[in-house]
Amino acid sequence: MNVRGRALGMAMYTLLACALPLSAQYPPAWTKPFPPFRIAGNLYYVGSEDLASYLIATPRGLILINSSLEVTVPLIQKSVESLGFRFSDIKILLISHAHNDHCSGSARIIQLTGAKYYVMAGDVPVVESGGKADFQYGADEFMRYPPVRVDRVLHDGDTVALGGTILTAHLTPGHTKGTTTWTMDAIEGGHALHVVIVGSPNVNDGYKLVGNPAYPQIAADYKHQFDVLRALPCDIFLGAHGSYFGLTEKYARWKAGDSTAFIDPAGYKAYVADREQAFETEFERQQAAAR
Ligand SMILES: [Zn+2]
Repeated sequence: MNVRGRALGMAMYTLLACALPLSAQYPPAWTKPFPPFRIAGNLYYVGSEDLASYLIATPRGLILINSSLEVTVPLIQKSVESLGFRFSDIKILLISHAHNDHCSGSARIIQLTGAKYYVMAGDVPVVESGGKADFQYGADEFMRYPPVRVDRVLHDGDTVALGGTILTAHLTPGHTKGTTTWTMDAIEGGHALHVVIVGSPNVNDGYKLVGNPAYPQIAADYKHQFDVLRALPCDIFLGAHGSYFGLTEKYARWKAGDSTAFIDPAGYKAYVADREQAFETEFERQQAAAR
């Protein structure tokens, strides 16, 4: 697919994936099982075809990023177990951002594992209210999920360490007030590969970037997010949705024997540039309309 087609597909998917009306069905790719596999070092993919969940395996236990939907918790559990790990060894649960497609399963996973829940400060009121405090979707019952108490409030640059692995939480706000881009090094063949798990740089359908009383600094936050994303060193490009980084295509290459399929610094740069352009276009459109 050419770049234009890819960008269009991505934009259409963004609309579909992030602004579901009341009583909508989930997109099929959100709940479709996907083979679990080792991405690099101690980092594994355990999500569905489009709702990305990541497992970090350490000698002191497991870290899970993104609980996804309540209905996909069994799918994540099966993936973790088929890789040879115990679900009950999940010690720390993290999320990309406080939208229902990435954090609805948190209550269930914590119930099953006793994991501690670490969430970026800007998203804490949202997850603790089950989505009611969300600036955009607070009144939308379809976007709600079981509220969960946060064990540790994260701030920009905080690290999460377990069994020799260190994850860094980068505040990349705009999509939500606490959207978090996670980075870590995966050690592969004695070399450290810089992993970036993008939280979400997307401007959802209906987001007010100009004159938003529920989120006055939203545009400045998006601009800050792109400054952060542009500056992150990236070898392995990942994100909250498989569609961000071409999971299915890269997995097909990985399965065919290309162990470097997920090493994609150029794809990361192109993705960030494309999403920044999409933000700027929408911001200018809304500014012009407000004049
Ligand atoms: Zn989202």
